[in-house]
Amino acid sequence: MKITRSIKLFEEAQQLIPGGVNSPVRAFRSVGGHPRFIHRAKGSKLYDLDGNTYIDYVLSWGPMILGHASPPVIGAIKKAAGRGTSYGAPTELEVELARHIRTAVPSMEKIRLVSSGTEAVMSAIRVARGFTKRDGILKFEGCYHGHSDYLLAKAGSGMMTLGIPDSLGVPADFAKHTFTAPYNDIRTVQRLMRERGKHIACIIVEPIAGNMGVVPPAHDFLPALRQLTLENDSLLIFDEVISGFRVDYGGAQALYGITPDLTVLGKIIGGGLPVGAYGGRTEIMDLIAPTGPVYQAGTLSGNPLAVTAGLATLKQLRAKQLYKNLEERSAALAEGIGKEAQRAGIPIIQHRVGSMLTAFFASDPVVDWNSAKRSDTKRYGQFFHQMLDQGIYLAPSQFEAAFLSTAHTSADVERTIRAARVAFKSL
Ligand SMILES: *Cc1c(COP(=O)(O)O)cnc(C)c1O
Repeated sequence: MKITRSIKLFEEAQQLIPGGVNSPVRAFRSVGGHPRFIHRAKGSKLYDLDGNTYIDYVLSWGPMILGHASPPVIGAIKKAAGRGTSYGAPTELEVELARHIRTAVPSMEKIRLVSSGTEAVMSAIRVARGFTKRDGILKFEGCYHGHSDYLLAKAGSGMMTLGIPDSLGVPADFAKHTFTAPYNDIRTVQRLMRERGKHIACIIVEPIAGNMGVVPPAHDFLPALRQLTLENDSLLIFDEVISGFRVDYGGAQALYGITPDLTVLGKIIGGGLPVGAYGGRTEIMDLIAPTGPVYQAGTLSGNPLAVTAGLATLKQLRAKQLYKNLEERSAALAEGIGKEAQRAGIPIIQHRVGSMLTAFFASDPVVDWNSAKRSDTKRYGQFFHQMLDQGIYLAPSQFEAAFLSTAHTSADVERTIRAARVAFKSL
C-alpha cells in the first residue's frame, strides 16, 4: 500500500502542529506507523490522499452513524449554508433539535446546546454542583468525559494509550474534589458514598463504557448508582456522548431503563459537525443563566449549520428497523471475528452493545480499566496494521470502540471478516 503523500504531509504537520494532529490518538502512537491523511469519505468508506480505500470502523469516533456524506444530511447542510452560518440569535432549528432530543430522551426535560462533549460535561457538572451546593464528584477509572481539568483523573483511552496517568497543567487543587472508583465496582462506590456522600454533587458515568474499549455495565451496576445517588441527595449524570442515539434511539438509559438526573450528549447529535448537549430535570436546568445563577454561554452554541446536521441525522434515525438492522450487522461482524480468532488460536474477549464493539486481545474477563489494560496492546498493534494494509480502518488503539453505520453492507462485513482471518493468522 502506497502512502507517500500521507508520510510527506505528516512530516510537515509535525513541524506545525504538536504531534502533527489536532487530537492525540489520531497520531497512531500506540500502534506505530503513519496516520493516513483523509481526502474524502462516503458511506462506509474513507479515501486517503494516496488513493487508498478503507472500510471505516472509526466513523469520526462515533458520530457518523448514517455513514459518511449521507445525502439527507449533506443536502440539509448545503441548504442551511445558503442562509448564513451563524447569527448569535435564536433560531427555530434549535427549538426543533431540543424537541427531537426530548422526545427521544424524556429525562432531558430541558436541554442546552453547546459545541463539544467536553463543554457539555463541564457544564452539566457545574449545574450539578450549583444545584446540590456541593463540590465533590465521583467518576470511574477508564471513563472519559472530555479534557476539562478536574475530569482528567484516570480518564481512559487517550491518556491510557499514551501512558499519561494524569495531565500536567492540572493544579492538584482542581482535581482534589474528583474521586474515582473502578467501573462496575459497587462496593467501592458504596464505601465512598458512606464516607463522603454528603459532599458528592454527582456521580458521572458512561452507562456503557466506550473509552477503555467497550465495557458494558454489570446488570446491577447502574441500578446501584441510581439508588446510592438518591440516598445521598447526589445527582446521577449519564455521559451518553457515545451511547446516545448509538445503542438505541433513547440511548443507554432507554436500553437499561434507568433514569439519570442529567444526561450529556455529543457526537451523533451533531451529525458530524460540532454539537454537544446537556439536559435533565427542569428544576435543575432552570438554575442555568439567564433563568438562574449558574453561568454558561457560547458564541457558536446552537450553530445553525451544526444543528441542521444533527437534526437531519436524528430524523433519519427514527426509521423503523434501523437499530435492529445495525444490531444484526454488528452481531454478524462480532461473530465472524470471534470465529476467525478461535480458528487461529488467538484468545480475544469480545464486547458488543448494539453497533459499538471491541475485541480485547486478552484471555481473562474485562470488567474495568484494570482488567482492560492487561490486554496485549503489542498484538493489537500488529492486528491493526494487518487490517489497515487490507483496507480495514480500525481505531489506532486497543482501548477504543469500533462502530458500524447504516451504510456498512453485509459485503463490507464479510470483507472485514476475511481480512481478520488473514490478520489473525499472521500473529
Ligand atoms: C468523546 C467523548 C467526550 C468528549 O467529547 P468531545 O466532543 O471530544 O469534547 C465526552 N464523553 C464521552 C463519553 C466521549 O466519548
